[in-house]
Amino acid sequence: MKSIAALLLCFVFAGIANAQLNPPAESAMDRFLRYVKIDTQSQEDQTATPSTRKQFNLANLLAKELTPLGAQNVRVSEFGIVYATVPGNLADNSKVPVIGFIAHMDTSPAVSGQNVTPVIHKNYQGGNITLPKDPAQVITVDKNPVLKGLIGDDIITADGTTLLGSDDKSGCAEIMTMIDTFRQNPQLKHGTIAIAFTPDEEVGTGIDKFDVKGFGAKFAYTVDGEELGEISDETWSARTATVTFQGKSTHPGTAKGIMINAMYAIADYLNRFPHDMLPETTEGRVGFVHPYAGVIDVESSNLKILLRDFDIGGLDAKEKVLRDMVMQTADKFPQVKITIDVKENYKNMKEMLKNYPELTNNAMEAARRAGLKPFLKPIRGGTDGSNLTFRGLPTPNLFTGGANFHGKLEFNSRRGLEKSTETLVNLVQIFAEKS
Ligand SMILES: [Zn+2]
Repeated sequence: MKSIAALLLCFVFAGIANAQLNPPAESAMDRFLRYVKIDTQSQEDQTATPSTRKQFNLANLLAKELTPLGAQNVRVSEFGIVYATVPGNLADNSKVPVIGFIAHMDTSPAVSGQNVTPVIHKNYQGGNITLPKDPAQVITVDKNPVLKGLIGDDIITADGTTLLGSDDKSGCAEIMTMIDTFRQNPQLKHGTIAIAFTPDEEVGTGIDKFDVKGFGAKFAYTVDGEELGEISDETWSARTATVTFQGKSTHPGTAKGIMINAMYAIADYLNRFPHDMLPETTEGRVGFVHPYAGVIDVESSNLKILLRDFDIGGLDAKEKVLRDMVMQTADKFPQVKITIDVKENYKNMKEMLKNYPELTNNAMEAARRAGLKPFLKPIRGGTDGSNLTFRGLPTPNLFTGGANFHGKLEFNSRRGLEKSTETLVNLVQIFAEKS
């Protein structure tokens, strides 16, 4: 009874607070439209961070925009990471944990991010959306049921020749607009906020250069998800196996009784993969094993395999399957020396986040106060947050309102950007209220 009353009071309070808010100096939409025009595509297999120098163009712009918004200690590291701090406005800021917000600046290497021309489909009235520069690129209601909730909204797409870059310039624009909103509304109470914009998320390398200690947050959120309300505090636990098949090569003309061809052993091993345990046959919470690359050669062949599961027990079971398969193939090819080496890549962030339930709970409440229906969605992959969580900075992932990441059909909407921003503003306040 008491909690229901408190909840009702929260809704009333949030309603009043929102009605009285001064608008930000620049809307999330206008920021977003500016950022997507800056090409920040990252590139695979580079030794330098950032992988492409052009990511500095957005990093430097964001750094320049942060100071007038009241951020302090704004800096761009040699690796292209933007860090800043927004000081709290409480009587005693030390009583509230420093909350971090992180978005990535780069766009996927999969599709060009050069000369992005955002198109605004004003007052969307339903139906499929054909992108103007390529009639083959159609965002269909069939494949994007989320469109049904966007009637009357302004939808933003690319023109059909590039990706949009909503992933993750939506997150960048929303975090910037959150800071702007606090700047325009000093009556909103909040603790100290740590901000970071990172390069090379799409190629998985930028986060290695992240200075967790210098960032100074106790907890953080990546703002890099999709549908409004979607919150993720679970990712895969991930290992990689390398199976090596050692044979013996010799001149084929004089090979009788000497040559041991490792290629037959690797073929036998591949044939043993269970068909119901592969990426192409699984979804939802079901994990997989995935042979994804290899070398075949008479003398030495090898196979690289991804192991993925949400539970460590499930991952152990998959590793056992691969090891049992090694024994079976070894029985059949006793002359081929077969070894298996398994490495840990990352762990389900839930293993750590289960100790900090308030992070997820507060995010759900923040979304509810913005009028959204929050829901938990496990990520069939890893995030920068999985890396940070195990480096001591617990970091779940929040929605941005975007959809169809990494492709030409990417989109977001005015409401998507605004409701995500509102959720961030609410979240910071909730931490202040509860401390
Ligand atoms: Zn992303």
